[in-house]
Amino acid sequence: MSYIVAIDGPAGAGKGTITKLVAKDLGLVSIDTGMLYRCHALAILRNNINLSNDKEIEDMLDKIKIELKNNNNKQTVFLNGEDVTSEIRMPEISKVVSKTSSILGVREKITNLERKIGYEWLKQGKNIIMEGRDITTVVFPEADVKIYLDATPIERAKRRCRQNKRNGINQSFNEVLQSIMERDKNDMNKKVGALKKAPDAIYVDSSKSNVNKIKQKIIKIIRQKTKENKNENIKKDIKSNS
Ligand code: C5P
Repeated sequence: MSYIVAIDGPAGAGKGTITKLVAKDLGLVSIDTGMLYRCHALAILRNNINLSNDKEIEDMLDKIKIELKNNNNKQTVFLNGEDVTSEIRMPEISKVVSKTSSILGVREKITNLERKIGYEWLKQGKNIIMEGRDITTVVFPEADVKIYLDATPIERAKRRCRQNKRNGINQSFNEVLQSIMERDKNDMNKKVGALKKAPDAIYVDSSKSNVNKIKQKIIKIIRQKTKENKNENIKKDIKSNS
């Protein structure tokens, strides 16, 4: 039976990197839900929508087509058929997306899309690993494995600076730190879908460990949890057949 791994955590905690590496090692399909929110935010900017008009921001989702593709563990996102995978990483999008993703109607529509994407892969017999802010709490609270990946704001800002450099984005360390702290505040205080640790999620702090160690730790958790769930299902089968 297919399983779902859900990972939440703040910006720059390493969810993207770790999720891709774990997916590669375990043969899972990785799904980055931030790409969906960013793609919608890009459509808002391109169409010059007034950022205080919640209704127009929500309605935009009925006018655009967002597609997330996953080929050999490489994720790309398409807005009305155009590949916008690089464009959605621009700092302007990071600023706007906190606002657009806090609107209830936007969250409901994107949550439905996330579930649809997840179920389509599960139906094909694939195991999935989905990362975001509310995957363990709202999108898939019934996920087989739930993880909250965290790191200190300073460490996250350092990582984001390195990532920006690789992507040719020019921002000072202070700007990056400021933007991370603002995003934390917005993400943690949303009325719906706020970033928080689900009571049964396993807390993993990535501040002091390297990527490989965190990857190994998460793989161990996934193996252990999916084995426990398998044993539970076997016990249930034995009980219902006896
Ligand atoms: O993960 P990433 O930084 O690309 O996400 C961009 C933004 O999208 C987050 O800061 C957050 O505001 C929003 N988001 C969300 N719920 C998710 C994923 C992302 O609100 N599941």
